[in-house]
Amino acid sequence: MNSLRFAAGWRRGRGREQGDDPTRLVRWSPSVTLVPTRSCFNACAYCGFRREPSATNDLSLAAAERSLRQRPASTEVLLLSGEVAPGSPERARWLARLLAFSGLALALGRLPHTNAGPLSRREMAALARLNPSLGLMLEGLGPAYERLHRAAPSKRLALRLGQLEQAGRLGVPFTTGLLLGVGESRSDRLRALELLAELQRQWGHLQEVILQPWRPDGAGARPLSTAEQHDLLELIEAARRILPAQVALQLPPNLWPLESLPLALEAGINDLGGIDSHDVINAAYPQPSPRELAARLERAGWSLRPRLCVHDRFIPWLPPDLRRRSTALQSQLLASGLA
Ligand code: SF4
Repeated sequence: MNSLRFAAGWRRGRGREQGDDPTRLVRWSPSVTLVPTRSCFNACAYCGFRREPSATNDLSLAAAERSLRQRPASTEVLLLSGEVAPGSPERARWLARLLAFSGLALALGRLPHTNAGPLSRREMAALARLNPSLGLMLEGLGPAYERLHRAAPSKRLALRLGQLEQAGRLGVPFTTGLLLGVGESRSDRLRALELLAELQRQWGHLQEVILQPWRPDGAGARPLSTAEQHDLLELIEAARRILPAQVALQLPPNLWPLESLPLALEAGINDLGGIDSHDVINAAYPQPSPRELAARLERAGWSLRPRLCVHDRFIPWLPPDLRRRSTALQSQLLASGLA
């Protein structure tokens, strides 16, 4: 990049950041999603993403590179993968592919963020050498989740909590979250948030908690009703009270009616997550454009600002190479003029 243009852009970006009210800032990450495979040994009852194992489910590195080159502004490469059973002879090849996709993202000047289910300590450490942050939804606890996850060994609560603790011990900046509206009780929700708060107090590595409303996909797709929104607004307020203040609260903006998004922000949401051109999990819910989001939020007194997949305050936690890359990309984002 031309250094003068870069410097001017940087000053413009800094000025705007300095003038912002930090309590009215909402973050998002320019993101592109790669799906190394949709094959998955789990069978969660609500999943529309999974496919039966087949070679045609596997993304090639060449196709991944083409996708990344088409989206040069996407600093985050979300690697969202179906899972191979621990102990399967296929597991080593699956991990090698995740590492190869992560390496590809870095080689093209981006930052990978992998969410591929529970990992052994060795697997997590290997991915964390290439990924500045990793993710795994806690999902939730209680009878409703147990019913939905009868055929999903990866979704056992103790295993998920163990993963969050393992990430804490390894010092990996981590994203987690809850899947909401699947029949869970209010006390199930609050208990899940309390468990996350305890983990954060112990390890300090949770950068964000996603509050993800479950939505029917395909022909059954419909926006959240007013009653569903009120129920979730109450939960957002509870999450903001229960979770330590430094943990960002994230809501996927395509799963919430845009006209009432400011209500969710007033309740405690301060992050809209990675925004790609489409949502590979909830394909029937189109992503709003960041420009549209910024304009709408500005009218309601909020400022939308881009971030990396790893939140700024965790950059000092990273190994030297990832720290250097993240710092450079962070400066580029500030200079980019992106909303
Ligand atoms: S683990 Fe994820 S990809 Fe696999 S069946 Fe469950 S929701 Fe689908």
